[in-house]
Amino acid sequence: MPLDILAIAAHRDDVEQTCGGTLLKMAQRGHRTGILDLTQGEMGTRGTAEDRRQEAEKAAEILKVSWRQALDIPDGRVENTWENRLRVARVIRELRPRVVILPYWQGRHPDHYTASILGYEACFVAGLAKLDVKRALGPRQLAFSQAASTAEMTEELLPHRPFKIIYATLYYDIRPTFVVDITEQFEARFQSLMAYQSQYSDQEAGKDLFPAEAEIRARTEAMARFYGLLGGVTYAEPFLQREVGLVEDLMLIPVKSV
Ligand SMILES: [Zn+2]
Repeated sequence: MPLDILAIAAHRDDVEQTCGGTLLKMAQRGHRTGILDLTQGEMGTRGTAEDRRQEAEKAAEILKVSWRQALDIPDGRVENTWENRLRVARVIRELRPRVVILPYWQGRHPDHYTASILGYEACFVAGLAKLDVKRALGPRQLAFSQAASTAEMTEELLPHRPFKIIYATLYYDIRPTFVVDITEQFEARFQSLMAYQSQYSDQEAGKDLFPAEAEIRARTEAMARFYGLLGGVTYAEPFLQREVGLVEDLMLIPVKSV
C-alpha cells in the first residue's frame, strides 16, 4: 500500500527530533506516513545498532507511522553515490509517497546535509521512466538489510516522483518558510525521542557528549516553543520549501501580522 508522506533521515532518532510531531499529526489526520532511516546507528557512542532498531520500532509506534525501515549505508559515512541514490529511489518507487520530508541541506553533521542532497537526487532518479532500478542495483544490492524475497525482487517497480519535497530545518539556524502546529502532538513526540533509551536515559557512557534527560526536555520544549511563537501557536516544527506559496483566498492566510 502506498504512503502519503515519507520522511527520510540519516540516523534513527533524527526524525523524532526534527519532524516527529508533524508525522504524528498527519497520521492522526488519516494520512499514511513512513520513515526511511539511511543508517543503522552502529557508530553511536551509546548502545548497538540492534538496540537502536528496537528503539526505532517503539518510536514508530508512538508516532503511528505505517512503515519504517533502515538501509545499511555506513553510519558516519552517508555518501551521495549512484548506488545510494538507486537504493533510496527503489524505496520511493515502492512506497510512492506524495510528500517527502528531507533534512535541510546545511548543517554540522555531514550525514545530515549529505542525506538531504542524496534524498533530493533519489526523488529525481525515481521518476526516470527508462531507469530499471532493480536491474541497475543488481541482484545482490537489496534495499534493506533483511534480504528481500525473490518474488519481491522480480516485481515491477514503476517510476514515481514525489509531488512535494519539504525540508525539516530544526538542526540548522535558518528561518523556516512555514511551521506545523504540533501543540497537541508535542508530548507524544517527546516520548518518541525518549524511546531511544540507549541514547537519552541518564548514564555514564558519553556523559560529556550527551545532555541529561531533564536538559533534553528543556531544549526540546524551547525549540518547539520558539517555532510555535513564529506561527502564533504553542509548539511547532519548522520546515522550508524551495517553491513559493500559492494562495487562493487572502482571507484564509494564517499567522497574524500585527
Ligand atoms: Zn542524526
